[in-house]
Amino acid sequence: MDENELIKEIKEIVTKYTTAGKILARVRKETAKQVQVGASLLDVANFGENMIRKEGGEPAFPINISCNEEAAHATPTKEDTDVFGEDMVKLDIGVHIDGYIADTAITVDLSGHPELVDAAEAALEAAIQAVHAGINTAELGVIINDTITGFGYKPVANLTGHGLAQYMQHVPPTIPNIPVDSGVVLEVGQVVAIEPFATDGRGYVSEGAGTEIYNKVGNKPIRAPAARAILKEIEPFKTLPFAKRWLNSKHLDFAMLQLEKNGNISSYPVLKEETGKLVSQAEHTLMVEEDGCTVITR
Ligand code: MN
Ligand code: MN
Repeated sequence: MDENELIKEIKEIVTKYTTAGKILARVRKETAKQVQVGASLLDVANFGENMIRKEGGEPAFPINISCNEEAAHATPTKEDTDVFGEDMVKLDIGVHIDGYIADTAITVDLSGHPELVDAAEAALEAAIQAVHAGINTAELGVIINDTITGFGYKPVANLTGHGLAQYMQHVPPTIPNIPVDSGVVLEVGQVVAIEPFATDGRGYVSEGAGTEIYNKVGNKPIRAPAARAILKEIEPFKTLPFAKRWLNSKHLDFAMLQLEKNGNISSYPVLKEETGKLVSQAEHTLMVEEDGCTVITR
């Protein structure tokens, strides 16, 4: 490939990221409006995921709708009847175009704790202001931690931001939400998501009951017809996360278990704040530049 072809290809990739980001900004805004006391979680998830497709993108993962002490990886089931109460609701939404992913999150507070939402948002903005090629991610951890503790809350220590790559929604570098001994230096052209979580609890999440989100992790052969049918159905998602409610194959629960045991798929259990306290989240995806960054999900 000569230099001109390389420049053309890079430009095309940047356009895919920015287009995914623009779609996502509109979807975040409209989906957040749907989050109201009494509204159905499943309706909100379907609204957002359908809007992504209507706008010309694909969901990079199922819309996460995590309430109160849930920090991440909650999404409605196919027959979900849950409605929102006076909850702290995190919407985490992803759009991809040809595998180039934009990732964003917003907290819609129906619980009457706006300052907890402000803490996560202020931490995200402070980190974004600091990003440029050459900054160490450890500095971002300090900025996020100091901003959230300045509001009187704690960052969630064991959740982090991350890099993004084609069809991979979690790759290095890790962007810590707390001070760490050694980070890594950000480089021009990296696409990263920064996602502070703030809590009035202790600041750690652990895996809770309930799994609705999976991704493909292996190609080991499996004989069971129902399991093979699912492998066929999840092919379009490649290695990206998908929701059980997206699938129509028969004997779904049993076959999913078989696939998990055989090492074909892996699950994302719901992550909950260990003391059961409220969690807020804010997230944007950005491209690292020499003197700063461009946020693609505004
Ligand atoms: Mn996210
Ligand atoms: Mn993310």
